[in-house]
Amino acid sequence: MKCSTQVFKIGTSNLEEVIRTAARIIQQGGTVAFPTETVYGLGADALNPDAVSKIFKAKGRPLDNPLIVHIADQERLDMVASDVPDSARSLMDAFWPGPLTMIFKRKDIVPDVTTCGLDTVATRMPDNPIARELIKEAGTPIAAPSANISGRPSPTTAEHVISDLSGRIDAVIDGGAVRVGVESTVLDMTPDIPVLLRPGGVSIDQIKEYVGEVLVGYTDRPAGAGEAVRSPGMKYTHYSPETRLVLVMGNSSAVVDKIIGLAREYLDRNIRVGLLVTDETAKTDEMAEYVSPDRVFLLGSRYDASAIASNLFAGLRYLDMEDTDVIIADGSMGIAGIGAAVLNRLKKAADELIEVN
Ligand code: AMP
Ligand code: MG
Repeated sequence: MKCSTQVFKIGTSNLEEVIRTAARIIQQGGTVAFPTETVYGLGADALNPDAVSKIFKAKGRPLDNPLIVHIADQERLDMVASDVPDSARSLMDAFWPGPLTMIFKRKDIVPDVTTCGLDTVATRMPDNPIARELIKEAGTPIAAPSANISGRPSPTTAEHVISDLSGRIDAVIDGGAVRVGVESTVLDMTPDIPVLLRPGGVSIDQIKEYVGEVLVGYTDRPAGAGEAVRSPGMKYTHYSPETRLVLVMGNSSAVVDKIIGLAREYLDRNIRVGLLVTDETAKTDEMAEYVSPDRVFLLGSRYDASAIASNLFAGLRYLDMEDTDVIIADGSMGIAGIGAAVLNRLKKAADELIEVN
C-alpha cells in the first residue's frame, strides 16, 4: 500500500487552493486526513466502496467497526439516513456543527463497507471550517474515523497523523492542533429512548436537556470475548500507548499519595516512569524527587476537564518513549461534562486500573 503522502499546510492565503486539491483527491477515490474539532479524521468518499476500503487498510481497522459519515449541511442528512425523529432534529439544531454523532436507519446509497453491513448509519457535522469546506467542495459525504493506526491514541495534530500514516494515505491537511481533543459523543437515535454509545465532546446532561431520558449503553472497559455489544467499536482496545499504562483513580488526595508511592516503588526497582498528571498533582513536592521533568506531561488543571481533553492524546503519545517502562496516569478529574469522555479514554487505554479512596 506504499504511496507518498502529500502534506498541505494551511497558511494565511492558501485555504481555497488546498481545499480544492484535497477535494479532488476525495472525488477520485483517495484518502485525505483533515482536522475536525474533535481529532484528525482520515477521510474518503463515504459512498464509494473502494475509497472506504482504503481507510480500513491504512488504519488496520477491524472490518466490523463502522465509520462515521460526515456531512456539511443538514439537508445532506436525508441522503444517507431515514426515519430521523424530531428529537434528533432538535439535537442537531442545538449541537451541530459539533461533536455529536447520531445513528439512524441508513439509506441504500450508503455502501455496506461504510456501515460494516449494519442497517444503520452514524453521522455528524464537524465544527471545523477546514472539514466543512472539504466536505462541501468534494460534494459527497465523507467517511472519517480517527486518522491513526487502529488502537493507538487518536491524533490531535498533523504530526501525529504523519507519524502513524505517512506512506499509507494520499494526503494530510495540516490545520494545527484540534480544539476538543477527544472523539465525538455517539448517540443511537433508532430506539424510542436514545442510547449513549460513547461519551464525547457533548455531555449526557447536555443531551438530556433536549430529549429527556437517555440510556447509557457503553462501558469503560473493552467488552469481553463473546459479549454482545451495541456498537462494534466497544469490542476493541483503544487509545493505547505501547508502554504499559497504570491509571490511578479516586479522590484527589488519595490519587496523589498513590502516584507518589508507585513512583517511589518503581524507582527503587529501576523501572523508568513517565507521569501523565494534572497540574495540581505535579505541583506536589515529593513528585519531583522521583520523576525527571522531561517524563512528566502536564494535562492541565484537575478542575478544567476541557483543557485535559485537549491535551490527553498528545500526552499519551509524548510519554510513549522507548526508555520509559511504565506510564502512571492521574485519574483525579471528575466525570462532569467532558470529564466522562476523558476517563473513558484513559480506562480503555489502561493496562491496570487502581482505585483509591
Ligand atoms: P471512530 O470514527 O474511530 O471514532 O469510531 C466511530 C465509533 O462509532 C465506533 O465506536 C463505531 O463502532 C461507532 N459506530 C459507527 N457506526 C455505527 C453504527 N451504525 N451503529 C453503532 N455504532 C456505530
Ligand atoms: Mg478511532
